Amino acid sequence: MTQSSNPTIRWSSDVPKLIKNFSNRVVIGLDRDGVINKDLGTYVTSIDDFEPLPNSLEAIASLRRLGFKIAIITNQGGIEKGLMTSDDVDKIHMHMLDLLGKAGCSSIDAIYYSVSSRKSDMFAKPNLGMFKRCEKENPHIKFNKGYYVGDKMSDLKAAYKIGATPILVRTGHGLETELELKKFTYRDIRKKTIVFDDLSSFADYIQLH
Ligand SMILES: [Mg+2]
Repeated sequence: MTQSSNPTIRWSSDVPKLIKNFSNRVVIGLDRDGVINKDLGTYVTSIDDFEPLPNSLEAIASLRRLGFKIAIITNQGGIEKGLMTSDDVDKIHMHMLDLLGKAGCSSIDAIYYSVSSRKSDMFAKPNLGMFKRCEKENPHIKFNKGYYVGDKMSDLKAAYKIGATPILVRTGHGLETELELKKFTYRDIRKKTIVFDDLSSFADYIQLH
């Protein structure tokens, strides 16, 4: 189509191509505590506890602008322990979405959280319940073509099992996990894992690939 007579609208033959490329972008799954916000070593039980890590919200905004699908998948074991309720977690997530909006990210695809961190809980990482439910409820999301970013071994295990590229960040528990990853028992996960200083460095990398 040629240029419109309306000076505020421009048509370009590149637009359909860009839209096509954007709609093909893969999912980037994100752990929350220790990746997006500071891991307090306890639990984030209210919005006052939610401290974004430097440039993490801006990194998500830039990934979103490039058309990547964003799904936050987080264990919130404090619920089962009675330290907070699901309503508290929902309030924290509304606050996080508000902060993301202010950082230029107007939407994300999904947020899932487990209510425990028990090994027997099929929804708690490293189990795959949340990932599978996310794929079922969001058919455009396929983790085996995407990435999952976390700071704990349970994140890397889940990423590996669902077929996503595991991304380890050195924020939160990341430095300890990087050491743990050297163990022989984790050799298969280690071969697939890419390590970055933080979410912002990962975003810089992925924009060039
Ligand atoms: Mg974490």
